[in-house]
Amino acid sequence: MSTSSPDWLTHGHPHIWLPYTQMKTADLPAPVARTQGCRIELADGRVLIDGIASWWTACHGYNHPHIVHAVQAQLERMPHVMFGGLVHEPALTLARRLCALLGPGLDRVFFTESGSVSVEVAMKMAMQYWSNLGEPQRRRILAFRGGYHGDTFGTMAVCDPGIGMHTAFDGAVARQDLCELPTDEARADMLEAWLAARADQVAAILVEPLVQGAGGMRMHAPAVLARLREMADRHGILLIFDEIFTGFGRTGSLFAFEQAGVRPDIVTLSKALTGGTLPLAATVASQRVFEGFWSDDPTHALMHGPTYMGHALGCAAALASLDLFETEPRLAQVRVIEGLLREGLAPCNALPGVREVRVMGAIGAIELTSRPDPAALRRAFLEAGAWIRPFGRIVYLTPAFVMPPEDLRRLTGVICEVLGASAAAHPA
Ligand SMILES: *Cc1c(COP(=O)(O)O)cnc(C)c1O
Repeated sequence: MSTSSPDWLTHGHPHIWLPYTQMKTADLPAPVARTQGCRIELADGRVLIDGIASWWTACHGYNHPHIVHAVQAQLERMPHVMFGGLVHEPALTLARRLCALLGPGLDRVFFTESGSVSVEVAMKMAMQYWSNLGEPQRRRILAFRGGYHGDTFGTMAVCDPGIGMHTAFDGAVARQDLCELPTDEARADMLEAWLAARADQVAAILVEPLVQGAGGMRMHAPAVLARLREMADRHGILLIFDEIFTGFGRTGSLFAFEQAGVRPDIVTLSKALTGGTLPLAATVASQRVFEGFWSDDPTHALMHGPTYMGHALGCAAALASLDLFETEPRLAQVRVIEGLLREGLAPCNALPGVREVRVMGAIGAIELTSRPDPAALRRAFLEAGAWIRPFGRIVYLTPAFVMPPEDLRRLTGVICEVLGASAAAHPA
């Protein structure tokens, strides 16, 4: 690829620092010229089918004209204005529409610019809620093995250290408490015993509903969430659902919690909120949580406020994205994708080196028995015309919901071929 590198890559790469990347040994990143629909066009003219929708965000495909026009119109009116003491129509309309979609009991929206920060805000809300109520000892957040909630210090504390993304900061991160998800009776008993011993110190339980994403695409039954809701209620603890990955249709319902028939006290949203166009996140709280801050005491106000909060362009993009969920058949498309993923990835079950194939909604994940060489796999996918980015022992697809069946069949076919060839090259 280096022969066809554009000048901006050659001259700019020595000055850029890339995420999760050993800069010394990693392949040069693929230079993107443009995007359209489910395709990524590289600088040398090659076109890739995008299997992961830019870290799960671009649910309507790239460059959807409805979002493009909404952002253009907003840009001309007002790119942004500070949100302290001033407000604007896109943010307030978005807050109202998000609450309507989330349903009764999730009533107040706090906007931020990234998923990690929306989780930070959720945890701060939970802790300050209790201190405002005269229980400042409730500082603990209970999170779960296999979970991922972000890369900032507060969120690293609630990630499973076993997923290995943050080991460089061991000792510097104030670890919160981690338990096993209550996926069976024995684990539920363990969690119950843990809670019974220290419920009065716990501010909130934090969980990714139905699918733990970056921690390994692990899926659990809706009943697990009902169990957590019941435990949280019995001990008077707040329940936070991190729907940053699962929100906006990814698991088959608009929000994952709908499948469990229970509601959180706080929910975090980001990734697909703007359809993959602009950075924006939201922390949405119940009336109960909000009322914990409702006071004549100014120190009881929520103490957080990012400079770019409620960014007007991001809010305009999110409003346009919500329009698309109303006017285009996104959830039906997710059902079709789910069937195609099941069918297309099933042959991988028979491959040596494959531990399990898991599918839920528009998520298809293959867990391998051992950690592959991720760079070699990425290269093989790239050569086959697919943008697929495995991590750890997981190879996965999270396509845009608008992906045509023939593209999706091509992607599942490429995965079967590449994993088959690598199994043949390295027999167990
Ligand atoms: C991606 C993700 C985050 C972090 O979001 P950023 O925008 O990358 O900070 C948090 N929680 C979950 C479940 C995520 O998938």
